[in-house]
Amino acid sequence: MNEATLFRQLADLLVRHRAREKADPLLRPHEPDALARLLELERPAKGDWRQILAWLEAYLEHSVKTGHPGFLNRMWSGANLPSILAEMVVAVSNTSACTYEAAPVSTLMERYMLETMLELVGFDEGEGQMTSGSSQGNLVAMLAARNERLQTAKEEGLWRQPPLYAFVSAEAHYSLDKAANVLGIGTDHLRKVAVDRRGRMDPDALADELERCRRDGGRPFFVCATLGTTVRGAYDPLEPLAALREEYGFWLHGDGAWGGAALLDDRLRRRFLTGVERLDSFTWDFHKMPGTNLTCNMLLFNGRRDGFRCACSAGEHSYLFREESDTHPLDLGVGSLQCARRVDSLKWFLDWKYFGKKGLARRVRRYLELAEYAERRVGEMAELEMVAPRESFNVCFRYRAARKNDCNDLNLRLRHRLLRQGAALVGVGWIGEKLALRLLITHPDFDETAVDRFLEQVAAAGRELDRLSPDREA
Ligand SMILES: *Cc1c(COP(=O)(O)O)cnc(C)c1O
Repeated sequence: MNEATLFRQLADLLVRHRAREKADPLLRPHEPDALARLLELERPAKGDWRQILAWLEAYLEHSVKTGHPGFLNRMWSGANLPSILAEMVVAVSNTSACTYEAAPVSTLMERYMLETMLELVGFDEGEGQMTSGSSQGNLVAMLAARNERLQTAKEEGLWRQPPLYAFVSAEAHYSLDKAANVLGIGTDHLRKVAVDRRGRMDPDALADELERCRRDGGRPFFVCATLGTTVRGAYDPLEPLAALREEYGFWLHGDGAWGGAALLDDRLRRRFLTGVERLDSFTWDFHKMPGTNLTCNMLLFNGRRDGFRCACSAGEHSYLFREESDTHPLDLGVGSLQCARRVDSLKWFLDWKYFGKKGLARRVRRYLELAEYAERRVGEMAELEMVAPRESFNVCFRYRAARKNDCNDLNLRLRHRLLRQGAALVGVGWIGEKLALRLLITHPDFDETAVDRFLEQVAAAGRELDRLSPDREA
């Protein structure tokens, strides 16, 4: 088979897949052994294009249909068409976005988008990088903060240095614990600050922690505000945190992986992100609410023009980056933790151009509207209840089990049941002692009817499980 035929066959395959994606079940579930047999993993295929195409078809067939309206598990679903096209072109042209020399178009697009986002956030004299996601974004922000606070940390490590402490809310993302591990801060030195009853970091509790840390001879160097927590969707209050920075001099980072999308709409920005332009750094995933193909992230620094290089560059790399070349200042790899960098800029650029800020803002407003609608519907359905009042985009609710002490377990089984039926893949999260089903709407085709259908499926599965429960009371 020649290349042109292969591309045409692949295109046919993709078109067929896309046409069925939303109507087919979300997944045809198999146990891993059964799926492995179906995939014929041991089968040889030397030079056999038919078999290669067969595996591509099998891959699509047995994948979770993330563009299906029942895919509610993660903070993303499906992907925007311009970015899908971009990913294909990126695969064909295959390069690393580390030097201008090897990736001229990508470098200029990435720089253009980063400048556009710095302006959107309101960072002056800032700089940015695309990273692999907000986990790496949080890591690099903490690294920059560490090295700014301890000027010799890069060379000398943390030996004989004063003990550093970082602070996040008790409901922050686990990537910050990982960052504390990787950077030698230690997870015990990542202090989890109490949240208020709405799940937002309590600034008074932070002030107490900072004071205690200083009294004990520690150095508070980094505070991360979560802007849209993963489970509840709570936004930490930025103004009081920025006020504490005046006194303690820490680096104030914003983890907007999920909730940063509120920046796209001026009214939502005022409601959720007042003070965002005062942060030292900010990370935001374009692969979550905005719908760009995975992965697409930006990390932005405020008021710094050489922060990434200072934080990240190390070692002898003159084989790649040469100071004498004209294009060297454009090379994004110099300030990256990676050597090879995926080209993530093309899909971001095309989505931004195609939908525009206005189009994406409309989408984010709509997600919020649908979350409001879902909360209202949960309130109206006797069998369902909210586990915590909705803060923003996350709807944390559950089925009210007939046996009260069975509720967490039943909701977990309910979730598996919906998946086995190929109906829905919904996330869960703990709020205190209670397990919540976490409805996250991130698909542009999702509407009120889809909300109703999903909630009805949850209620029906719950009734079924209640009925099956052998030792049910009354
Ligand atoms: C999703 C998420 C992350 C992790 O982002 P990745 O891009 O998956 O690495 C970090 N923080 C918050 C609040 C998140 O919701």
